Amino acid sequence: MNANSSSFPLYPGSTLGMIGGGQLGRMFAAAATAMGYKVAVYCGGEDEPAAQIAHHCVIAPLDDVDAAANFARQCDAVTLEFENIPAQTIAACAAHVPTRPGHRVLATAQHRGVEKTTLRDAGLPVTPFELVKDKDQIAAFAERNGWPVIVKTCRSGYDGRGQYRFESLDELSEFEVDQVGEDGLPVEWIAERFIAFDFEVSVVVARRAAGEVSTFPMFRNRHRHHILDLTTVPAQVSDQTQKSGVEIAVGVAEHLELEGVLCVEFFVVDGELMINEIAPRPHNSGHVTIEACHTSQFEQQVRAVCNLPLGNPNLRVPAAGMLNLVAPDETMPTGDNWKRWSDAEVNLHWYGKSQCSRGRKMGHISHSSTDLRRVVEHLESLRW
Ligand code: AMP
Repeated sequence: MNANSSSFPLYPGSTLGMIGGGQLGRMFAAAATAMGYKVAVYCGGEDEPAAQIAHHCVIAPLDDVDAAANFARQCDAVTLEFENIPAQTIAACAAHVPTRPGHRVLATAQHRGVEKTTLRDAGLPVTPFELVKDKDQIAAFAERNGWPVIVKTCRSGYDGRGQYRFESLDELSEFEVDQVGEDGLPVEWIAERFIAFDFEVSVVVARRAAGEVSTFPMFRNRHRHHILDLTTVPAQVSDQTQKSGVEIAVGVAEHLELEGVLCVEFFVVDGELMINEIAPRPHNSGHVTIEACHTSQFEQQVRAVCNLPLGNPNLRVPAAGMLNLVAPDETMPTGDNWKRWSDAEVNLHWYGKSQCSRGRKMGHISHSSTDLRRVVEHLESLRW
């Protein structure tokens, strides 16, 4: 039996299972708890950000299917906060309760090659790419598409990890393609055309079992060292670009029969959108919705998972932004940091991680105003 066939709404008092203990799970738990749900978290340690505020947690490895099945039996529905969860773990949960997003969405998002092929075959605009096995194939792709070329691992890459850029054949020749992954299998690769984009945007879309779909306003995103630094909204794009982003995001959600929340990340080139990647969960850029929109992306995830009517995603302020607090090194913040970040004009979100490391997202700050330029200036003055 696949419990996903059930589309009864789940009302407050129900227990929602969250697989993964990171900050996305924590903010989901906060939203679900505010609505009167109980949240159970399945993760690797009880000091993880989501576990700290869960009603109860199960500590077990992600690939333990028996533990996952037991966990699911204690829940009325299961959702997740990152996509790289073994398919058999999700299948073990889905045998007992609705598991949203479901297996199909996850299998697509877990592998860059499958993801890009699925979206391209559905007629959606993706960056030109090719699955590659060796340096000759990467070089042939680059010769056809032009240098530089971007090469990414098909699995487990994020925030620029598992991503390489080669300017020339000489640079590529230094590269080791025959790597073996943690699972002992050869690493699979995808080559992508380098896109000299004007800027990056994202659209967070929600869809529920009843078929209702809803999108948040488009966000404009700026990265530093491949990690999201600053999100601003409105995205300051043309009506046509905004409309096209919504159409594509809805197209992705419908094509994959999404149940839950999904983010589509885009490159913008001369006003045209090209999908970089999708993530079938709330997204870092969507943190700005907590203060800036009538419904946050986390409440929307609760609603989508529970098959409740989706909330109003529109902005309730003229302009807003979100700055990530990314650790520069292993030193925890000091009194001086806290003093700056507790500024009365901004909202501080700290994820409660027990250790810092360089490039780790430890929290974020958001700021709403009538003036987008003021939002950006103020947030930038608060960077860690
Ligand atoms: P990803 O891990 O695919 O989200 O990539 C992280 C960041 O690397 C993106 O947000 C872009 O800033 C940059 N990037 C990824 N792919 C490309 C590409 N094909 N062309 C140019 N920049 C890229």
